[in-house]
Amino acid sequence: MSARALYCRPCDSDEQHRRLTADEKNWLRKRTGRRSVEEFFLCTAPTCRNVRSGFNKRPFDPVIRLPQVD
Ligand SMILES: [Zn+2]
Repeated sequence: MSARALYCRPCDSDEQHRRLTADEKNWLRKRTGRRSVEEFFLCTAPTCRNVRSGFNKRPFDPVIRLPQVD
């Protein structure tokens, strides 16, 4: 799974982000009511798990953090 460095608002720094897994996409669809969540990335910094889109560093207010999904 490819990762990329993006600015993370809660971390207030550039952090590695990865695309969401299928389970995480399902969770975010339910959470936001969006039909498509393909543009979102997850911050992989320890304990952060903030969600942002590729071109919007703060798409949600308050921020959305994904729960741990096994
Ligand atoms: Zn972060």
